[in-house]
Formats: sequence, C-alpha cells, structure tokens
Amino acid sequence: MTLRENEERRLLEGHLWAFSNEIAGVEGQPEPGALADLYSARDRFVGRGFYHPHSLIAFRVAARDKIDIDEAFFKKRLVEAFALRQSLYGAEASCRWLFGESDGLPGLIVDRYGDYRAVQILSAGMERLKAVIVSALADVLGPKGVVLRPDAPLRELEGLPQGKAEVVFGEVPDRVQIELAGVKFYTDLRSGQKTGFYFDQRENRRVLGRLCKGKRVLDAFCYTGGFGLSAAAHGASRVVLVDSSEPALELAQANAQLNGVSESCAFVHGDALTLLSQEGQKNQFDIIVLDPPAYARSKKHLPKALKAYEKLNAQAMKMLPRGGWLATSSCSHHVDRAAFLEMLRNAARRAGRRVRLLELRSQAKDHPVLLSMPETEYLKFALLEIG
Ligand code: SAH
Repeated sequence: MTLRENEERRLLEGHLWAFSNEIAGVEGQPEPGALADLYSARDRFVGRGFYHPHSLIAFRVAARDKIDIDEAFFKKRLVEAFALRQSLYGAEASCRWLFGESDGLPGLIVDRYGDYRAVQILSAGMERLKAVIVSALADVLGPKGVVLRPDAPLRELEGLPQGKAEVVFGEVPDRVQIELAGVKFYTDLRSGQKTGFYFDQRENRRVLGRLCKGKRVLDAFCYTGGFGLSAAAHGASRVVLVDSSEPALELAQANAQLNGVSESCAFVHGDALTLLSQEGQKNQFDIIVLDPPAYARSKKHLPKALKAYEKLNAQAMKMLPRGGWLATSSCSHHVDRAAFLEMLRNAARRAGRRVRLLELRSQAKDHPVLLSMPETEYLKFALLEIG
C-alpha cells in the first residue's frame, strides 16, 4: 500500500491515520480491515496496520515496525496501557484501560469495571482480530467476565454491523458496582450508555464536588449520577438530577441509595432545557452542571450544534444567581477548545451576564490525548462564575 507523494510526513510524526485521498495505490483487493504495510511514495516503510477500502480513514497504523499483530502484541499493549492507569489511580481502579489510538490500538476501547471488562470495537481491522483480542483480554489480570458492546454509532463508518451486547468470556452480572473517588456506582455493562459509565469526567467530577458543600446543585444531564452524586457526597444541601432516559435515572436513584445520599437528592425525568426554561427555577440553584450528549455528530452539524449549546448554556446562566457557578461540558469532537469558548462567550452575551472562566479542563487522564493526533481530544469542561 503506497501513499501519495509527501503524504507520509504527518504519519511519520506520530499520527496514526491515512485518509482515502492520501493513498496512491493498493495491491490486490484487500478486504475491509485487512492487515497491510504502508509505504511512502519513495518506498519508505511508514507502518503496519489496517486498510479499509471504503472508509474515509483508509489506513490505521497499529505498529511502527514489521511485527506480528498477534495475541502477544495485544497483551503487550494492554500491559503498557495498564501501567499508566496503575500509576494514575492504583492497581485496582476501574477506568478506561485502553483508549484506542492514544494507546496504540486504533479503534479499540476497553473499560475496566473491577473484575469485568467492557469492550468497544470501532474499526474493521480490530473486528477481524476479535478472537485474538478477547483471548488477550481473558489472560491479563484475570477478569471474571468480558462483554463486547457492538452498538457504538461509530461502527457504521467502518461498515460494521450494530448488535446487542455479547458476553464473550466468563460471566457478567446485570449490575457491576464500581467506586471512583469514594463514590459508588452501579453500572450496566450490557445496556448502559457507552460501555456503562462515563469515565472521561472522573476528575472533573472531583473538581466540581469540592465546591459543593452546602450548595444547591442542578445536574441537568445526570445519566447515572456522576456529577450529582459527587456533589451530594461532598455535602451539597440539595441536588436535583435530571435526565431524559428512564433507565439512567433508575440507576442514578439506586446509586444515591448506595451512597446514602438519597435524602438530599431529587430526580426528574424530562428534558433539561425545558426545566431550565421554567421561570420558577430561577435562583433555585447555586451550581448548575451541564453535560449534554454530543450535539455535533459530524462537521456538517457543527453550526447547528453550536447554536444548541449556546442556547442551553445561556439558559443555565440566566437561572443562576450572582456568584453562581456553571460547570459545563461538550463531548463533541468537532467542537474544539476555541469554538467551545467562543460559544460560551456568545451564551454569556445572550444571557446578559458577566461570566468569568475559572478553569478549563479536558478528558480524564485515562483518556490521554496523543499530541501528534489532535483527534484524540474531545472533551471540554469549563468552570464558570456567573456575575
Ligand atoms: N453527566 C453524566 C453523563 C451525561 S451523558 C455522568 O457524569 O455520567 C448525557 C446524558 O444526557 C445521557 O444520560 C442522556 O440520556 C441525557 N440526555 C440526552 N438528552 C437529554 C435532554 N434533552 N434532557 C435531559 N437529558 C438528556
């Protein structure tokens, strides 16, 4: 497989993708996800990885040398990725164990829930190696169960079918209990969102939690209670948790009980923006947390998505008293930091408030950003003071 003239530079500098318009020639008719070697136009070896004839991402580098992509390869990468998580959070911690490209395994996500693993395969190359991956996972740190989650929308871009969760090793209970920073959560690895839990906000929840003692907090897109329960555990006087998903709220409620904070928590099933638009909610909260789903699924949707974020954030700003805090996120890949701040600036203007940025953060450290590959950064989290 050969790149067009001068297209190797980005890849040699550490990027892991070649796009379809950068490929000059292909030998034979490789299937989606076939293992192949990539060369520059001048015949320099660039990397070994996966080719996809129909995806915009035509090639994903898995190795910089001509090594075998076998079980030993996966085990080595798993052990390397574990070393980082162990130094960050300790050997037992539930976390994102493998963050795809950032951990050198393009299109493979592994989350560790105590003794259980939940896996997302997002590239055709990894799908072809599924059996090898499962075998490697079953062998490192002795899990009790491994579940595959073939329901991620990103799979469609690689022509991979959507399917139901499949337990491929051992057993996985309906509810797996994990603990992060002293807060316990039940998680549903089969049908919960993503693989069951949003590990990417773990450190942002702590940042927020520390501010919550004695405060009234609204967690507007609460899912299973990540932010709201951290707030309650840190002594918030009252927490209202809102989500449009019934199963998510049920787990959030169970999680409140699990942490002994049910008395300070109230749960609302419904649309966050509708709630924030009710005049009666004005000045009812000292802190509002906004963690909506990704509004911009593709570049095409960006202008509309930015308007939706702006509307939501402006509404939250209007609801807060002077001196209130807004903890607001965007997990859209296509909204970069600059666009995120610009959107918040517009929201502040729209709300007619003086807004100060106290802290700008990103995804948790178990989702490392590969500097040579800006695509690996996606989460923005701002802590704002509303004047
Ligand atoms: N903050 C959560 C993760 C939020 S994910 C945590 O820390 O774990 C986004 C959540 O928003 C999902 O649970 C989804 O069900 C919910 N959601 C989507 N649209 C919504 C809407 N219009 N109103 C309220 N919740 C919504």
